[in-house]
Amino acid sequence: MILVMAVFNCYESLLTLVRLHYKNNIATSFMSRNHIASMKKRKHVTAALIVAHPDDETIWAGGTVLSHPDWHWTIVSLCRASDVDRAPKFIRAVQQLGGVSEIGDLDDGPAQMPLSEGDVQEMVLSLLPETQFDLLLTHSPHGEYTRHRRHEETGTAIASLWEQGLIKAKEVWMFAYEDSGKGGTQDLPIAIKTAHLRSNLPEEIWRRKYIIITDTYGFTPETYEAHIVAREEAFWCFKSPTEFQDWLKTVRRKR
Ligand SMILES: [Zn+2]
Repeated sequence: MILVMAVFNCYESLLTLVRLHYKNNIATSFMSRNHIASMKKRKHVTAALIVAHPDDETIWAGGTVLSHPDWHWTIVSLCRASDVDRAPKFIRAVQQLGGVSEIGDLDDGPAQMPLSEGDVQEMVLSLLPETQFDLLLTHSPHGEYTRHRRHEETGTAIASLWEQGLIKAKEVWMFAYEDSGKGGTQDLPIAIKTAHLRSNLPEEIWRRKYIIITDTYGFTPETYEAHIVAREEAFWCFKSPTEFQDWLKTVRRKR
């Protein structure tokens, strides 16, 4: 029991350090080499990054993944397994990010018909190799831009699985970006200023992210996807489903 408590306290300290680091470095750098070195001495961190589509993992959280190469990353896309173009690109992108990939095949047709929450939850559970993580990253139920229904459905389903205890995570971080409601390349999504966690990526980390989007996924520089490779990553962070529910009540849905 003492050992369990010690390990838990160690993990708590780690997250506190990460939080402090992020808070203290909003306008400067991401992880210093010394900080990464000290983290490597700590408990092995298991992290899952669950997104709707291939490329979301890199655009919204790729810098965070690349900045923690010592964490064990499981990276899941819920859509496009049968897409012969995007599925293999996703697998290569996750290799470049240093994670283990899983990809599902939820409907992602142009009509974007609403999916049942049960179907999305079932897909998540069928793809995850385990259901217990130190940290889980995913979309917010509010999405990131105007508008992709699958992003919102993913965030909602993950939150529900966490609340039901079907996925266990010590913390859940949700992407915190928004545009002004028009969408397109004239209205790019940016990190929300009031997000719980914000960090500017060092040039080298951002460039690796950008290369995955342009070279691995093949988006040319003038595309929307290339434009929205965030230089600043931002997350809403929750330690319990109750915290998440409280936040949900206070953050007004804009769209
Ligand atoms: Zn997407």
